[in-house]
Amino acid sequence: MDTPTALLILMLKMNFLMININRLIETLSNPTVYGAEDRMRDYIVNSLNERNIPNYVDKYGNVYAVKGNADYFPCVVAHIDTVHPLEEFTVHEDSYILTAINKHGEQTGIGGDDKAGVFVCLELLDRFENIKAAFFVSEEVGCLGSYLSDSEFFENVGYAIQFDAPFNNWVSHYSDGVKLFSTDSEFFEKINPIFEECLPNYSSNNLGNHPYTDVSALKSLYDFSCLNYSVGYYNMHSKHEYVSILDVDICLTTAVKLIESLGQKLYFLPKDNRRLINESFKRNIENRLNSYKTKRGSIWAPFLLRFYPIQLRLSETIDTEANDILNFDYTIETVVNHFLSVTSHDTFNWSEGKRIVHCRG
Ligand SMILES: [Zn+2]
Repeated sequence: MDTPTALLILMLKMNFLMININRLIETLSNPTVYGAEDRMRDYIVNSLNERNIPNYVDKYGNVYAVKGNADYFPCVVAHIDTVHPLEEFTVHEDSYILTAINKHGEQTGIGGDDKAGVFVCLELLDRFENIKAAFFVSEEVGCLGSYLSDSEFFENVGYAIQFDAPFNNWVSHYSDGVKLFSTDSEFFEKINPIFEECLPNYSSNNLGNHPYTDVSALKSLYDFSCLNYSVGYYNMHSKHEYVSILDVDICLTTAVKLIESLGQKLYFLPKDNRRLINESFKRNIENRLNSYKTKRGSIWAPFLLRFYPIQLRLSETIDTEANDILNFDYTIETVVNHFLSVTSHDTFNWSEGKRIVHCRG
């Protein structure tokens, strides 16, 4: 074990870290899959109600929370679906690593992607007086919930931060080809030193070009800067997925500093217009959302898991650094997602080296 990790574990044992491990385990314990997010949604709504945080659910099943008052709110974001089969499991902890074991005693995907993000959002709602949060359905099959998000809710949002990337040092600059923030901006001037301070081996030269997550949809719809970065899950979209408590803590600690520094103001960035979001686009998204609700994820989730051996093979054969391996894994994920949810005006090219390239058809 290297010295920083040993130090972190020592701090955890002495309760110096800010993370509420019981709440993290509780959040991760909710089975959820795209099309059947009910239990995760109920858990979120109940914990918001317990804390008297005003919230509502839209007709698609997205949850919105508003705490306090501001001209412009910080908004934290996570998605509430996973790709894993809807089954009962228990969360196990060993050396600050969390895994899920099903009733047959086998490991199953814990769904840190993106239940770890949900946990971070709930914690931030406790820690800030004036803050919004949005929890989206069916991200895994094409950001369906976020494309249908409530535009009124986002009218007074100054910026949005999502916690939906693996490991502990990824920062998405582009997501689904959409630029989330400008590096020539006050927004970047504020976030960059915090990432340098908090994320291991972060460098502004390593800003990522990552596949879609909800903020890529939000940035296509709204004129505020967005951000997405690591929340400490590993082996996502596979039954070997696990969550590192220490890395979730890094994410949370970083988020607190980011929001303290960015404050309650608008970081304007005109919406990305590469995707034509008109009524027929939204109708298409709505139809897909309804069809997944009918299937309740059960048809596709076992199928997705079958891709894990391919990920492993690729990872084993590529002798390169971890980030590049993960890019390849992410590529497979994106191929699978696109296989399930490709729309007529998207084309996708995954053979350009290890980088992910999205092209407009
Ligand atoms: Zn995710």
